[in-house]
Amino acid sequence: MYVVGTAGHVDHGKSTLVKILTGIDPDRWEEEQRREMTIDLGFAWLKLPSGQTVSIIDVPGHERFIKNMLAGVGGIDAALFIVAADESVMPQTQEHLAILDLLDVAHGVVVLTKADLVDDDWLSLVQDDVRSRLSGTVLANAPIVPVSARSGRGITELLATLEQVLSQTPSRSVANGIPRLPIDRSFTIGGFGAVVTGTLIDGPLTIGDEVEILPKGLRARVRGLQLHQQRTEIALPGSRVAVNLAGVSHHDLVRGDVLTLPGRVRPTDVIDARLRLASGVPPIEQNDRLELFVGACEVPCRVTLLDTEILGPGQSGWVQIRLERPIAVVRGDRYILRQPSPSQTLGGGRIADTHPARHRRFRPDVIAMLEALARGTPADLIQQVLSDGMPHHQTELARTTGLSDTLLHEGLDELHARGEIVVRAEWQMNTKAWAILNDKIRQALAGYHRRYPLRSGMPREELRSRLKLNAEALDVLLEMADVIVQGTLIRAIDHVPTPNAQQAREIRLLLDGCARTPYSPPIPELEPELLGLLIEQGQLVKVSADVVFLPESYREMVAWVRQQIDSAGSVTVAQFRDRFQTSRKYALALMEHLDERKVTRRVGDARVIY
Ligand code: GDP
Repeated sequence: MYVVGTAGHVDHGKSTLVKILTGIDPDRWEEEQRREMTIDLGFAWLKLPSGQTVSIIDVPGHERFIKNMLAGVGGIDAALFIVAADESVMPQTQEHLAILDLLDVAHGVVVLTKADLVDDDWLSLVQDDVRSRLSGTVLANAPIVPVSARSGRGITELLATLEQVLSQTPSRSVANGIPRLPIDRSFTIGGFGAVVTGTLIDGPLTIGDEVEILPKGLRARVRGLQLHQQRTEIALPGSRVAVNLAGVSHHDLVRGDVLTLPGRVRPTDVIDARLRLASGVPPIEQNDRLELFVGACEVPCRVTLLDTEILGPGQSGWVQIRLERPIAVVRGDRYILRQPSPSQTLGGGRIADTHPARHRRFRPDVIAMLEALARGTPADLIQQVLSDGMPHHQTELARTTGLSDTLLHEGLDELHARGEIVVRAEWQMNTKAWAILNDKIRQALAGYHRRYPLRSGMPREELRSRLKLNAEALDVLLEMADVIVQGTLIRAIDHVPTPNAQQAREIRLLLDGCARTPYSPPIPELEPELLGLLIEQGQLVKVSADVVFLPESYREMVAWVRQQIDSAGSVTVAQFRDRFQTSRKYALALMEHLDERKVTRRVGDARVIY
């Protein structure tokens, strides 16, 4: 499905030609709209000799021209570039040509209208004049067809030529599979709710689709679709469509909004872009205040020149454009910059990054990154995001790169095959960055183990803040890394907490003491860390601040307590003390420990089962 736009100076016969080619009178729109459910898009369509239908965008009025050229963000597929034979090239002819050039609309037919008003000699002079003006532009090699609306001359030939040109035109409307509809009109039709119109790009839209309208983020559902006045179940990218929406009021929708699938496009108020100035325009200076046109929207902005002091006519450069309000665009979208007064088109280009950082000017690394983005394949784009060295989740990657699932997987598969990324579950990371981070983890743990040889691991939180990762990312990394995770502690695979010789002697002493007097063991006088290690390793059981038992003694005492309660109903501290011939201090420590562990419960002087 192709979208063809008309261009040319006012009164050169654009509307008349569209009327003849399509049989549709553009002046009927308002009336049609009032009448009822027939949604005329304000755009016409025609059938080529082959039977193929082509949308034609022609709205009279110079000031709306630019938006129509941009309709569908990606720009139209081909132009009907109109020049009246009696007047030849006029100022708007030239500005429109400059815009077609800036938008890279490389296909089209030049139509010399009003051929009936001039003789053949004049016609061939005009033809030469037009040809020379086209040289060096996107339309340099476009065919030129003289026509007359009055006599009908050239119309059949024009249709055949257009068909031939389109057959060599790749449809530029399909990009990443996610449908976007830049809204150019919104209205309501009695009882049917909100209706929006626009040129659908990038992906298909189907009745029943849940959609989001940006930048406001309103949710709605597609209740009906119309294509060239016909109801349809599915609208394909590249077509002019009217969408009937449920769940939203047309008052909340304005020209310039973008309808898309929920969560797929994130609005932005700063973009990086390649900018080319047209010839013969005033230069752009740092921080100039201009107007950005993209899709169906126009927004005031300021421009930072990233690689030049001043951008002159015919020159190109990298810019960061700061917008007065957020817009919904994706990488690769074409835009135009105009100066507000006197109103004039200055330049345009393609968006390279929709969510850039604030750049400082004249930074070679920034320019290099932008060059990469401008050339970018899906794989390049993914690598660009992964270049921060952090693990990224698939959902987030899709959002940041603006890639569809298909392209995202294509890119990921390619990178995986090339060994450039490591993948764990839905997380991916640059291979080199992973090696570096893995090394950092290893070093952080080694350092920690050196400093605290007795501790069995580094607290997760400490490692996280050392590596400056979020918790989720750390989880993924730990799963990938060669480490042992034990609760909240992380340790190197080969780390065994090791006491030094002196500490080993102290341990021996304590354990031997415990073995000699198992029910009244010595008060441990080890440094807390060392004691902690013995407890953690299960060599000792701690029941109070200064009472520890060997595990076998501990088990024996607990078993006796349970058994005693079982047979006698309860047990007292004194009974315990007598049974194990220990002091009240140990008996009480164990009892309170068991109360705390909810094994027993205190009733007066005795303990019963909890
Ligand atoms: P637009 O402003 O470019 O859309 O121009 P219009 O289609 O409104 O045409 C401007 C004027 O030129 C109208 O009065 C048309 O009748 C007249 N016109 C358009 N095409 C022809 C043509 O082929 N021959 C003659 N003689 N007049 C034409």
